Amino acid sequence: MKRVYNFSAGPAVLPEEVLKEAAEEMLDYRGCGMSVMEMSHRSKMFDQIIKEAEADIRDLMNIPDNYKVLFLQGGGSLQFAMVPMNLMKNGKADYIVTGQWAKKAFKEAQKFGDAKCIASSEDKTFSYIPDCSDLPVREDADYVYICENNTIYGTKYKKLPNTKGKPLVADLSSCFLSEPVDVTKYGMLWGGVQKNVGPAGLVIAIIREDLIPQEELPGVPTMLQYKTQADAASLYNTPNCYAIYICGKVFKWLKKMGGLEVMKERNEKKAKILYDYLDSSKLFKGTVVPEDRSLMNVPFVTGSKELDAEFVAEAQKAGFENLKGHRTVGGMRASIYNAMPIEGVEALVAFMKDFEEKHQ
Ligand SMILES: *Cc1c(COP(=O)(O)O)cnc(C)c1O
Repeated sequence: MKRVYNFSAGPAVLPEEVLKEAAEEMLDYRGCGMSVMEMSHRSKMFDQIIKEAEADIRDLMNIPDNYKVLFLQGGGSLQFAMVPMNLMKNGKADYIVTGQWAKKAFKEAQKFGDAKCIASSEDKTFSYIPDCSDLPVREDADYVYICENNTIYGTKYKKLPNTKGKPLVADLSSCFLSEPVDVTKYGMLWGGVQKNVGPAGLVIAIIREDLIPQEELPGVPTMLQYKTQADAASLYNTPNCYAIYICGKVFKWLKKMGGLEVMKERNEKKAKILYDYLDSSKLFKGTVVPEDRSLMNVPFVTGSKELDAEFVAEAQKAGFENLKGHRTVGGMRASIYNAMPIEGVEALVAFMKDFEEKHQ
């Protein structure tokens, strides 16, 4: 068996330790004679899995008691609809558009009410984060929406926007659990877990209780109401049990690693290796303004499409997978999530140096 260095943006690399443990437990989960995939979501065993997962993420992220933790389905993209469906109480929301995912969320919100784009970085192919210190947030906006880490373009908010008192709703999919966050600064934050935490299809939403509609929302499908999910502790219907189980294991791994403060240091160290090289290279170039660089997704180019393609092909032969940039951007992108070991980044940089020497 040989594991590659997987730089995929998502679904993405998971900690090897977690995968091994899951493999060991596959046929017989802790003496119950079946796998987690086969057990009832109403069983004692699963109840323990989901409760422990919630307790561990609360602990890791220091989530206050007045926030609900919901395990939802439909991927990140369903939140683009659920957010406006549930949180647009006045029918108005302000969006900051810093990439494809934010743009999709903004477009989806327009189906449900008056969504307005109050800042964008599209003028420069989303290569920076706009100044968000004094935006024209509307008096009666229900929330301000951001995508905190832009998976495709490789930018990240280093400072949260000034929302002028409105709740901040943030998509953290590609930076979820990569560093500590102050949950109290958000009305709601959520992440599709397949970027940094677990298998695709599960979303973890952390939402301040008072923002969850207290009444049934007419015309909104039962499954798409946060109230339904909150009242049923994410067990209104059969949840994505296996994904919750794997996420629970990743939470324990993160705790064992020392928690989010330690992950942040580790992620900064990893990203620095790659960015320092990009800044010194004559062949490769990062595509993002240095002050807004993501610690998770690092896009870069050579300036030549042919050379980019050659690099991706050669890298794959050498055991570096999924380095091709997003189809809308081209070039390369290395996603270096929590589970990417520092050795993987060092090996990639060594390979890039070698490639550069050969192409002088
Ligand atoms: C991948 C991604 C999504 C979409 O997730 P799906 O589960 O494929 O719907 C949304 N937002 C961000 C920031 C992402 O990286």
